Amino acid sequence: MSASPSDLRSASPRCAPDGLQRVLVVGALGRMGRCVRVALEREPALVLGAGLEEKGHPDQGALLEHGVRVSDDVAAAVAACDVAIDFSVPAATLAIARAAADAGTAYVTGTTGFTPVERDAFDALGARIPVVRAANFSLAVNTLAWLVREAARRLGPDYDAEIVELHHAAKRDAPSGTALRLAEAIAEGRGVALAERLLLERAGEIGARPAGAIGVQTLRGGDNTGEHSVLFVGRGERVELVHRSATRDHFAAGAVRSAAWLAGRAAGTYRVEQIFGLE
Ligand code: NAD
Repeated sequence: MSASPSDLRSASPRCAPDGLQRVLVVGALGRMGRCVRVALEREPALVLGAGLEEKGHPDQGALLEHGVRVSDDVAAAVAACDVAIDFSVPAATLAIARAAADAGTAYVTGTTGFTPVERDAFDALGARIPVVRAANFSLAVNTLAWLVREAARRLGPDYDAEIVELHHAAKRDAPSGTALRLAEAIAEGRGVALAERLLLERAGEIGARPAGAIGVQTLRGGDNTGEHSVLFVGRGERVELVHRSATRDHFAAGAVRSAAWLAGRAAGTYRVEQIFGLE
């Protein structure tokens, strides 16, 4: 008989006598990974247990908090920790989350830019371990998504919905995962399928705006950590709901809060809205 994740958990060295949950930070030296490590220091139930970085990263072996060294040994890192917090790239997230499932280690990821197939593959790991994937871990942005869904429900498709997002010049994927999440919230509020309404590009002779379209426009520049505006444009009036981010700290705080919530739970694919009480 194969061991269940909970069997593995109780047999592992992770059940430390201090009662703290060990956390693996994936992408430990990245922009978000650094913020996550700072946020971990403020969470009394969690402690850094391992830090992974890409093979060949120039700072492999660097000393992090609590004597942890940056490593590329995925098997050892997942085995040493109760829960992973990952902000990296889709291919790394999937490979490391699969190793975490083999080791019975819970997984929180904020990585964006997954293809639908990759996204489904990640979510399916919830059959084996507790997982949560969110395009945005900010409590305020998730509250914005809730407000957007409710506004879309009440205003209906006569108010044309447009989303504008601005991020730093180094961001790899577009539109942002958060913009897509907000588009999804509009579709949910209207009771329609996003795939049939999403409008990402406009150039040339585009003709009249398709009825019921949900438009998303991308801006890139500087070091901006993220701004999202949702516009409901009616005849002679419009509603705008806006979130502006000045740091990455709130993303990290939400991911750490999610990890504390997830650690020790039954296997499942959880939603950040559930963790934040927004459902
Ligand atoms: P970044 O490039 O600064 O950091 C990514 C890190 O992952 C890098 O240090 C890189 O070396 C590392 N990495 C790459 N391959 C790896 C591997 N195989 N193993 C271990 N580490 C590996 O990027 P960032 O700004 O920190 O963003 C990371 C991701 O998080 C992006 O997808 C971004 O869109 C997303 N993000 C999500 C939220 C959210 O709240 N969900 C907030 C901000 C950023």
